[in-house]
Amino acid sequence: MEYPADQMEFEKMFKTEQDCIDYLESLRWPNGFECPQCGSIRFWKKNKGRFECSDCHKETTVTNNTMFHKTTKPLLIWFHAIWWMVAQKNGVSAKGLQKVLGLGSYRTAWTWLHKFRRLMVLSGRNKLKGIVEVDEVLVGGKKPGKRGRGAEGKSLIAVAVEVKGRKTGRVRLEKIQDASGKSLTEFIKKNIEPTSTVITDGWPSYSGLEKLGYIHK
Ligand SMILES: [Zn+2]
Repeated sequence: MEYPADQMEFEKMFKTEQDCIDYLESLRWPNGFECPQCGSIRFWKKNKGRFECSDCHKETTVTNNTMFHKTTKPLLIWFHAIWWMVAQKNGVSAKGLQKVLGLGSYRTAWTWLHKFRRLMVLSGRNKLKGIVEVDEVLVGGKKPGKRGRGAEGKSLIAVAVEVKGRKTGRVRLEKIQDASGKSLTEFIKKNIEPTSTVITDGWPSYSGLEKLGYIHK
Protein backbone atom coordinates (compact mmCIF):
# COMPACT_ATOMS: atom_id res chain seq x y z
CA MET A 1 0.00 0.00 0.00
CA GLU A 2 1.36 3.38 -0.96
CA TYR A 3 1.43 6.28 1.42
CA PRO A 4 -0.20 9.41 0.12
CA ALA A 5 2.18 12.33 0.30
CA ASP A 6 -0.37 15.02 0.87
CA GLN A 7 -4.01 15.86 1.17
CA MET A 8 -4.61 15.60 -2.54
CA GLU A 9 -3.10 12.17 -2.61
CA PHE A 10 -5.15 11.20 0.39
CA GLU A 11 -8.27 12.20 -1.45
CA LYS A 12 -7.12 10.41 -4.56
CA MET A 13 -6.43 7.28 -2.55
CA PHE A 14 -9.79 7.31 -0.80
CA LYS A 15 -12.19 8.45 -3.45
CA THR A 16 -14.85 5.79 -3.18
CA GLU A 17 -16.35 3.51 -0.58
CA GLN A 18 -14.61 0.60 -2.25
CA ASP A 19 -11.22 2.28 -1.78
CA CYS A 20 -11.86 2.38 1.97
CA ILE A 21 -13.03 -1.23 2.02
CA ASP A 22 -9.93 -2.33 0.12
CA TYR A 23 -7.71 -0.45 2.53
CA LEU A 24 -9.34 -2.01 5.60
CA GLU A 25 -9.06 -5.39 3.96
CA SER A 26 -5.33 -4.93 3.41
CA LEU A 27 -4.88 -3.94 7.06
CA ARG A 28 -7.00 -6.74 8.40
CA TRP A 29 -5.81 -9.57 6.23
CA PRO A 30 -2.38 -8.57 4.92
CA ASN A 31 -1.82 -12.17 3.81
CA GLY A 32 -5.31 -12.66 2.45
CA PHE A 33 -8.68 -13.40 4.02
CA GLU A 34 -8.89 -15.94 6.81
CA CYS A 35 -12.21 -17.08 8.24
CA PRO A 36 -12.40 -16.00 11.90
CA GLN A 37 -14.59 -19.02 12.67
CA CYS A 38 -12.82 -21.97 11.07
CA GLY A 39 -9.55 -20.51 9.80
CA SER A 40 -10.23 -21.43 6.20
CA ILE A 41 -8.66 -19.26 3.55
CA ARG A 42 -11.19 -20.19 0.89
CA PHE A 43 -13.91 -17.64 0.40
CA TRP A 44 -16.37 -15.90 -1.85
CA LYS A 45 -16.11 -12.18 -2.02
CA LYS A 46 -19.43 -10.36 -1.96
CA ASN A 47 -20.21 -6.69 -2.22
CA LYS A 48 -19.74 -4.07 0.51
CA GLY A 49 -16.67 -5.71 1.99
CA ARG A 50 -18.43 -8.96 2.84
CA PHE A 51 -16.70 -12.33 2.67
CA GLU A 52 -18.34 -15.72 2.85
CA CYS A 53 -16.24 -18.65 4.00
CA SER A 54 -16.40 -21.46 1.40
CA ASP A 55 -16.13 -24.07 4.15
CA CYS A 56 -18.29 -23.06 7.11
CA HIS A 57 -20.27 -20.37 5.23
CA LYS A 58 -19.84 -17.79 7.97
CA GLU A 59 -20.12 -14.29 6.62
CA THR A 60 -17.57 -11.75 7.77
CA THR A 61 -17.55 -8.07 6.95
CA VAL A 62 -14.28 -6.23 6.73
CA THR A 63 -15.56 -3.89 9.45
CA ASN A 64 -16.50 -6.67 11.92
CA ASN A 65 -14.96 -6.00 15.32
CA THR A 66 -13.31 -2.82 14.19
CA MET A 67 -14.22 0.70 15.21
CA PHE A 68 -16.42 0.79 12.12
CA HIS A 69 -18.51 -2.17 13.27
CA LYS A 70 -22.12 -1.79 12.13
CA THR A 71 -21.62 1.76 11.02
CA THR A 72 -24.37 3.14 8.83
CA LYS A 73 -22.32 6.05 7.59
CA PRO A 74 -20.07 5.67 4.57
CA LEU A 75 -16.52 4.70 5.48
CA LEU A 76 -15.35 7.67 3.44
CA ILE A 77 -16.78 10.00 6.06
CA TRP A 78 -14.90 8.18 8.82
CA PHE A 79 -11.68 8.06 6.88
CA HIS A 80 -11.77 11.77 6.31
CA ALA A 81 -12.67 12.47 9.93
CA ILE A 82 -9.77 10.34 11.14
CA TRP A 83 -7.40 11.92 8.69
CA TRP A 84 -8.46 15.33 9.84
CA MET A 85 -8.09 14.33 13.46
CA VAL A 86 -4.66 12.83 13.05
CA ALA A 87 -3.52 16.01 11.38
CA GLN A 88 -5.08 18.14 14.06
CA LYS A 89 -3.51 16.16 16.86
CA ASN A 90 -0.20 16.98 15.29
CA GLY A 91 -0.69 20.61 16.05
CA VAL A 92 -2.21 21.87 12.86
CA SER A 93 -5.49 23.74 12.97
CA ALA A 94 -8.23 22.61 10.66
CA LYS A 95 -7.82 25.82 8.73
CA GLY A 96 -4.10 25.45 8.35
CA LEU A 97 -4.32 21.81 7.41
CA GLN A 98 -5.08 22.26 3.75
CA LYS A 99 -2.26 24.73 3.40
CA VAL A 100 0.32 22.59 5.12
CA LEU A 101 -0.69 19.48 3.27
CA GLY A 102 -0.77 21.38 0.04
CA LEU A 103 2.94 21.96 0.46
CA GLY A 104 3.35 18.22 0.22
CA SER A 105 5.59 17.75 3.22
CA TYR A 106 6.21 14.12 2.55
CA ARG A 107 7.76 13.30 5.91
CA THR A 108 4.89 14.86 7.84
CA ALA A 109 2.23 13.17 5.78
CA TRP A 110 4.03 9.87 6.09
CA THR A 111 4.11 10.16 9.88
CA TRP A 112 0.44 11.00 9.91
CA LEU A 113 -0.38 8.07 7.74
CA HIS A 114 1.31 5.80 10.20
CA LYS A 115 -0.83 7.17 12.96
CA PHE A 116 -3.87 6.92 10.74
CA ARG A 117 -3.10 3.31 10.09
CA ARG A 118 -2.44 2.60 13.76
CA LEU A 119 -5.81 4.03 14.75
CA MET A 120 -7.49 1.74 12.27
CA VAL A 121 -5.67 -1.27 13.64
CA LEU A 122 -6.30 -0.42 17.29
CA SER A 123 -9.84 -1.54 17.08
CA GLY A 124 -12.09 -3.27 19.54
CA ARG A 125 -15.42 -2.04 20.71
CA ASN A 126 -14.96 -1.55 24.43
CA LYS A 127 -15.46 1.91 25.82
CA LEU A 128 -12.48 4.23 25.98
CA LYS A 129 -11.02 5.04 29.37
CA GLY A 130 -8.34 7.06 31.15
CA ILE A 131 -7.81 10.49 29.69
CA VAL A 132 -10.00 11.03 26.67
CA GLU A 133 -10.12 14.07 24.44
CA VAL A 134 -13.43 14.81 22.81
CA ASP A 135 -13.76 16.96 19.73
CA GLU A 136 -16.14 17.56 16.92
CA VAL A 137 -15.45 17.88 13.24
CA LEU A 138 -17.54 18.78 10.22
CA VAL A 139 -16.73 16.55 7.28
CA GLY A 140 -17.86 15.72 3.78
CA GLY A 141 -20.33 17.39 1.50
CA LYS A 142 -18.22 19.21 -1.01
CA LYS A 143 -20.98 19.35 -3.57
CA PRO A 144 -21.06 22.71 -5.26
CA GLY A 145 -24.49 23.95 -6.22
CA LYS A 146 -26.25 21.45 -4.05
CA ARG A 147 -27.89 23.20 -1.19
CA GLY A 148 -30.16 21.74 1.38
CA ARG A 149 -30.19 19.78 4.51
CA GLY A 150 -27.42 19.59 7.06
CA ALA A 151 -24.95 22.37 6.28
CA GLU A 152 -24.57 21.59 2.58
CA GLY A 153 -24.51 17.86 3.10
CA LYS A 154 -21.81 17.94 5.73
CA SER A 155 -21.88 15.61 8.70
CA LEU A 156 -21.03 16.60 12.23
CA ILE A 157 -18.81 13.91 13.70
CA ALA A 158 -17.97 13.58 17.37
CA VAL A 159 -14.47 12.24 17.94
CA ALA A 160 -13.08 10.72 21.15
CA VAL A 161 -9.40 9.85 21.45
CA GLU A 162 -7.54 8.23 24.32
CA VAL A 163 -4.47 10.20 25.29
CA LYS A 164 -1.57 8.15 26.57
CA GLY A 165 1.29 10.50 27.27
CA ARG A 166 2.43 11.72 23.90
CA LYS A 167 0.82 8.79 22.21
CA THR A 168 -2.68 8.56 20.87
CA GLY A 169 -4.70 5.56 21.93
CA ARG A 170 -7.95 4.21 20.61
CA VAL A 171 -10.49 6.36 18.88
CA ARG A 172 -14.26 6.42 18.55
CA LEU A 173 -16.26 8.35 16.03
CA GLU A 174 -19.95 8.91 15.70
CA LYS A 175 -22.24 11.11 13.68
CA ILE A 176 -24.15 13.48 15.93
CA GLN A 177 -27.21 15.57 15.12
CA ASP A 178 -25.89 18.82 16.54
CA ALA A 179 -23.27 20.19 18.90
CA SER A 180 -25.69 20.53 21.79
CA GLY A 181 -24.75 19.37 25.28
CA LYS A 182 -27.37 16.63 24.97
CA SER A 183 -25.92 15.10 21.79
CA LEU A 184 -22.38 15.27 23.10
CA THR A 185 -23.30 13.79 26.45
CA GLU A 186 -25.01 10.89 24.71
CA PHE A 187 -21.90 10.32 22.64
CA ILE A 188 -19.69 10.37 25.74
CA LYS A 189 -21.95 8.01 27.68
CA LYS A 190 -21.94 5.54 24.83
CA ASN A 191 -18.22 5.60 24.13
CA ILE A 192 -16.35 6.47 27.31
CA GLU A 193 -16.22 4.70 30.69
CA PRO A 194 -17.38 6.73 33.66
CA THR A 195 -14.51 7.81 35.99
CA SER A 196 -12.54 8.74 32.87
CA THR A 197 -11.20 12.24 32.50
CA VAL A 198 -12.92 13.91 29.58
CA ILE A 199 -11.15 16.86 28.02
CA THR A 200 -13.21 19.11 25.81
CA ASP A 201 -12.08 22.23 24.08
CA GLY A 202 -14.19 25.18 23.19
CA TRP A 203 -17.51 23.62 24.04
CA PRO A 204 -20.09 25.37 26.13
CA SER A 205 -19.48 24.08 29.61
CA TYR A 206 -22.07 21.80 31.01
CA SER A 207 -22.13 20.23 34.40
CA GLY A 208 -23.88 17.04 33.34
CA LEU A 209 -20.69 15.06 32.85
CA GLU A 210 -19.65 15.19 36.50
CA LYS A 211 -23.04 13.92 37.56
CA LEU A 212 -22.52 10.92 35.29
CA GLY A 213 -19.24 10.11 37.01
CA TYR A 214 -16.76 11.69 34.62
CA ILE A 215 -14.05 14.15 35.44
CA HIS A 216 -14.48 17.05 33.04
CA LYS A 217 -11.65 19.35 32.09
ZN1 LIG B 1 -15.12 -20.66 7.94
